[in-house]
Amino acid sequence: MPQNKFVSQIEHFNTRYKEDIAGDSYFGKPLAPVKMAEEKLSSKGTPSIAYFSMEYGLAPNIYNPFHVKKPVHPKGMHYDHEVFSNLRAMDYFHYLRVERPPDLPIYSGGLGVLAGDTLKSAADLGLSMVGVGILWHEGYFEQKFLFHDGQVPMPMLWDPYAFPGLIPLKNHVKIQLKEDVIHLRLWKYYVYGFEDKSVIPLVLLDSHLPENTEEIRKLTYRLYRSDDEWWKFLQRTILGMGGILALDELGYSIDEFHLNEGHAAFAYVAKACGLPEAEQKNLQKKFLYTCHTPVAAGHDRFSMKLAEKILPFDKMEIVARWGQDPHQSELINMTCLAMNASRAINAVSQLHGKVTRLQFPNFKEKLKAITNGVHHLTWVSEPMAQLFDQFQKEIGSWREDPTLLKKAEKLMGNNAFREGLWKAHQENKQRLSQFLKPWKLDPDLFTIGWARRIAGYKRPGLLLHDAQKLLDMTKRVGPIQVLIAGKAHPNDNVGRGIISEMLSKIDQLNMRYEDLKVIMLENYDTYFGRLLTSSVDVWLNNPLPPFEASGTSGMKAILNGVIQLSTLDGWVAEAEDTGIARIFGYRSKDGAAIANEHDWKMEEDSKALYKELEELLDLYYRTHRKGSLQTDSQWVDMMIHCVSQAGFFNTHRMVKEYQEKMWGMGQ
Ligand SMILES: *Cc1c(COP(=O)(O)O)cnc(C)c1O
Repeated sequence: MPQNKFVSQIEHFNTRYKEDIAGDSYFGKPLAPVKMAEEKLSSKGTPSIAYFSMEYGLAPNIYNPFHVKKPVHPKGMHYDHEVFSNLRAMDYFHYLRVERPPDLPIYSGGLGVLAGDTLKSAADLGLSMVGVGILWHEGYFEQKFLFHDGQVPMPMLWDPYAFPGLIPLKNHVKIQLKEDVIHLRLWKYYVYGFEDKSVIPLVLLDSHLPENTEEIRKLTYRLYRSDDEWWKFLQRTILGMGGILALDELGYSIDEFHLNEGHAAFAYVAKACGLPEAEQKNLQKKFLYTCHTPVAAGHDRFSMKLAEKILPFDKMEIVARWGQDPHQSELINMTCLAMNASRAINAVSQLHGKVTRLQFPNFKEKLKAITNGVHHLTWVSEPMAQLFDQFQKEIGSWREDPTLLKKAEKLMGNNAFREGLWKAHQENKQRLSQFLKPWKLDPDLFTIGWARRIAGYKRPGLLLHDAQKLLDMTKRVGPIQVLIAGKAHPNDNVGRGIISEMLSKIDQLNMRYEDLKVIMLENYDTYFGRLLTSSVDVWLNNPLPPFEASGTSGMKAILNGVIQLSTLDGWVAEAEDTGIARIFGYRSKDGAAIANEHDWKMEEDSKALYKELEELLDLYYRTHRKGSLQTDSQWVDMMIHCVSQAGFFNTHRMVKEYQEKMWGMGQ
């Protein structure tokens, strides 16, 4: 594609972007791979995939940021976070100032991070793919802690026009509904792969346009923050139907459509509209669906009546035919629609595969289980990357092919590697301690981390359930430092309640911080995600089985040699025998849910947790005391098993499995 054709598509090019997109440069990166990706997507000769997702956590704040000629406004580089700990005075006088590139705030948690990591691995592997998503003008939300109120959500304000690497296009599309029309502007963001050799374009849809009514403009303001069903329904209409229109508008020739979650299922409706019934069925060859939700309430349902009011007759007919809820005929079930629409469906871990087969027996035949992963280049810490490079002879080119990390196992008997691994870990821990300096985090003390979305089934409060038991343990064995972070959905009263409860428990531990230091960080995001998963000694993962479909934060941790303390759920169930984890607590038999879903087994599972934790604590202090290290410790064995398992739990392996088992292009 000639330069001027590329430029002519960009809105406000002369006033905003001409310095950053000039000659062969695109925000500091080469423009050639962008042109190549665009050509491949437009050509019928190259098999191409469109990947649809409501959210993307691309994390340019920690990996591969774009550069702009004019420096980003300094305010856009500093982020102040409050801290809530049992060193109350420190919280009062200090806050955390984080300096980092801006984050692209169009994600809420693990689902979005997975979508981002998927695009990054697809780019590294040089696939022809395009992502489709929504430009959320106020992101998800910014979290503030107030002592008596717990979490308070604040709007996350950012300027898409000033975001490095994000460009508005002149292309618009229009969704014609029964009465309303939704006008959408298209944006683009290019996800660059390894050594900038290839890119995956991400197309973002935006209803914030003067042509739209005030209500429709608001549809793309806030991710998962819908006021009512009408709103939620239209957001899904934008993603699915708007997404298909956008791909056509951009002239892309797409062979297969991959729906990440049921949110995007209306993409099928847009494609099937106008086809006779037999051809609608045939179209299913082109659709693939990844189901992430093991919680029944997590599957979107809408009333047929609402849909009838919104959708034109031809689209409504398709929705009713393929999307009717099997148990309640007056409802549309987005999961069923996505399952009916697709040739193949994947659950996101082997255990989740069992859960999904139980929940949807009718779709058993087309259901596969492909375990999630993480993008290793994003989540590996600098000291670990240097260590792996140092042992390149034994490990190989792990950046190009992370499955080579399996070879770390062969270094089990290598003392230089064992010491190097500890040193790299200690370096990460020192950086974390430096960062939390006023709170006197000690890099020589046992540190445990828990950070992810605050949701009931993830049981964020399990560790603090009986704080006295924790204190007693520190007296017997040694001090413990705890780091916690996470956002609850603002409408999730249970999750918000858990945060308030945790804040007051931490408050009650005031003055006990010599033995037990508990620090809760505000506004968890990918920056804190990488910092915490790479720097604590033990990563705690305690969902109630079988509700964690996969979980990915622990995969970020093992890549950095961080040991798992976990219930047997999600991806961990596949790594039970690999020596990376201490497992405790309730087990689900073959993916069956417990009879009483309100019984979170806090009492018995916290006891099981404390028992396992005490053994780990003891092993830690027998391995390491300030200034000394027992290199031959079983602890270091576990760290090596972790790195080696990261050879499997990564998105390169996952995307290759998608290619082999889901997409036609791999066959
Ligand atoms: C990785 C990540 C998650 C996912 O954590 P889980 O343990 O899988 O729930 C959520 N939020 C952020 C910011 C992450 O980086």
